[in-house]
Amino acid sequence: MSDDPNSKTCPSAPLSEGATLIGALGADGHVHHFKTPMIADADFVTKAEAKGGAERHLRFASKCETSGCKQWTGTKCGIIESVLEDLKAPDAPPVADDLPPCVIRASCRWFAQRGEAACRACHLVVTDTREMAHS
Ligand code: SF4
Repeated sequence: MSDDPNSKTCPSAPLSEGATLIGALGADGHVHHFKTPMIADADFVTKAEAKGGAERHLRFASKCETSGCKQWTGTKCGIIESVLEDLKAPDAPPVADDLPPCVIRASCRWFAQRGEAACRACHLVVTDTREMAHS
C-alpha cells in the first residue's frame, strides 16, 4: 500500500473509498479472509452506505493512521492487544490452528506488532463490534 517501510495497513478499518476488502463474516460467525483483494470504489461505497452496517459483515483495510486513530496507544494498535488479552479468558473462543490467507500480511499493523498470534485471532474480529467484544 506504500513504499514507506514504516507505513502499515490497518486490518480493521472503516468502509471508505479506496479501502481494501480483505474478508467477510461467514455463517459460522468468523471472518473468512479473501485470497484476492478487492478495492472499494465509489460505487461500492455508495451502495454499501445506503445499505448500512458494512463493517458488521465485511473487513476493510486501509492505511494505519497511528496517532490519528483513537485506538493508537502512542506506540502501537490497542485493538489487537485487547483481542489477545481477551483470548486469555477460560471461556474465550479458540484461535485458528493455521494462518489464514491474507492479502495484506506484508504491511499489516497487527502482524507487524504481534506476528502469527494476531493472524490466528484475526478471524474473531468484527470491526463494527470490536469495542463491545473487548469490554
Ligand atoms: S492479523 Fe494477520 S490475518 Fe489478520 S489482517 Fe493482519 S496479517 Fe492478515
